[in-house]
Amino acid sequence: MADGRWAIAVHGGACRIPSALQAPRREGCAAAAEAGRMILERGGSALEAVKTAVCLLEDDPAFNAGRGSVANADGEVEMDAGIMDGATLDVGAVACVRFLYNPVETAHAMLREPPVLLVGAGAEAFASSRGIAEAREPVRPATPCGSDHDTVGCVARDREGHVAAATSTGGLAGTLAGRVGDAPLPGCGFYAEDGIGAVSLSGDGEAIARMLLAARVMRALETTGAKAAAAAIFDPMARLGAEAGVILLDREGAIGIAHNSPQFAAAYVREGMDPVSAIVWEQDDVR
Ligand code: ASP
Repeated sequence: MADGRWAIAVHGGACRIPSALQAPRREGCAAAAEAGRMILERGGSALEAVKTAVCLLEDDPAFNAGRGSVANADGEVEMDAGIMDGATLDVGAVACVRFLYNPVETAHAMLREPPVLLVGAGAEAFASSRGIAEAREPVRPATPCGSDHDTVGCVARDREGHVAAATSTGGLAGTLAGRVGDAPLPGCGFYAEDGIGAVSLSGDGEAIARMLLAARVMRALETTGAKAAAAAIFDPMARLGAEAGVILLDREGAIGIAHNSPQFAAAYVREGMDPVSAIVWEQDDVR
């Protein structure tokens, strides 16, 4: 397993991307993959790479996560994020947080703690107990040019053969206050396990949760290659009339990207190849 080959893929959400956001999202994904590449190339961990890449995407207002988050029905931002260490199977996740610009940072700080998921004020209190800077005011919704849903995510494999996954979102625009989608739920919006691979999803959160989509993709990864495992999202989403996009990598760092949404901003890079980024992916676009 530890053959020294690193790999990373990031995504910026499965949806119809407004034209003004297409270039910024493609470029933002490329920049996040590049930040992860720098960590992995110098021997850093997959966990550090996914956290760093997702923090960058949360800081970029072109994405519905962190600073770019959309408003719920009350006009407020509520964000969810989850991260998983494939080496230890530790999970950290937060939901319905309003005062944290980088929800994935708090999720990361929870990795070695007993709870898997903290919500709202409890998550924010945990963040401040760890010295993670909270905003003084709640994070404000992004400008109306943003899309009405989306998510960001990252999967990585390091030189040691360890894998990690993270997903972060501002959720769905106009949704009920307190609604939590798939993004912070392991086995739904993300999962990682050494010896199998790592996965991060975007799309219709309720459908993804009902289908345990990350778990299905992980099960496919146990028996098929990366491309076929990515295609495992199609039937469950068709059954519920829902849309999703997936990035994944297998135990060796082979990458899979698939979506049934009109577009899916994503980028990937592996040891020994040039980075690739796009907003529409056909099966053969991933080498
Ligand atoms: N999956 C996210 C959620 O349901 C939204 C998205 O990815 O578009 O919160």
